[in-house]
Amino acid sequence: MNLGISIILSLLLGLIVHLKKALTMPALIPAVLFSTLITYFGGITSFIILVVVFLGSIITKLFNKNKKRYKRKLIQIISNVGVGTLSLIIYKITANDIYLLIYVSVMAESLADTLASDIGILSKREPINILTLKKGERGLSGNISILGLISTLIGSLLIGTIYYIGIEKNIISFLIIVLSGFLGSLVDSILGASIQVKYRCEKCKKITERKEHCGKKTNYYKGIKWIDNNLVNLLSNGIIFIVLYIILNYL
Ligand SMILES: [Zn+2]
Repeated sequence: MNLGISIILSLLLGLIVHLKKALTMPALIPAVLFSTLITYFGGITSFIILVVVFLGSIITKLFNKNKKRYKRKLIQIISNVGVGTLSLIIYKITANDIYLLIYVSVMAESLADTLASDIGILSKREPINILTLKKGERGLSGNISILGLISTLIGSLLIGTIYYIGIEKNIISFLIIVLSGFLGSLVDSILGASIQVKYRCEKCKKITERKEHCGKKTNYYKGIKWIDNNLVNLLSNGIIFIVLYIILNYL
């Protein structure tokens, strides 16, 4: 894609993001930069996929009325599109199509994961922990629900369909994207249930990912202290990158 058009599209996206108050100020300029790189290296379909992943993250916030809308921070942008952007840079350098496919697969996982947590939280039934299968709290990383799993599948199918229409009418690539989105989200949940840091609110006794709850500081409960949800997202994307790199190059 032409650099000028890439910049214009990304500035437009940045403007909408800003008007929707979806990002903090320090995150806005890097977000526009990521978008420019993605569009310039990956083309218009890569840009559309970025927009869809972004819309997924704000649309669910809009219809999640009881959850306070919050602005996404720079660290969340990096953890959601960092690996994908890197993949497109390698695609530009090597001109090897597998890196474009990896970009789309990683983005499918990012959308699937966002939808799973934001729509899954609306589930009427209590979710279960993906590792212990015990019932747990809604919205806590590592807990999964049928509604969340269906959302994951819908997000993955959506990204796979955009790729199929916009880039390559190849059913194998389509399936790789859908499976990456779906299985990648499960990996995300497994990491969320195992190594991600969790805290306990001493006031309401709930387990949470937040450092504050009920207006008070929470105490460490379990997990590796420096591994938060953002790092888990980054790790899941990285795992998809490595697994697909091996499968597409050596199998
Ligand atoms: Zn509390």
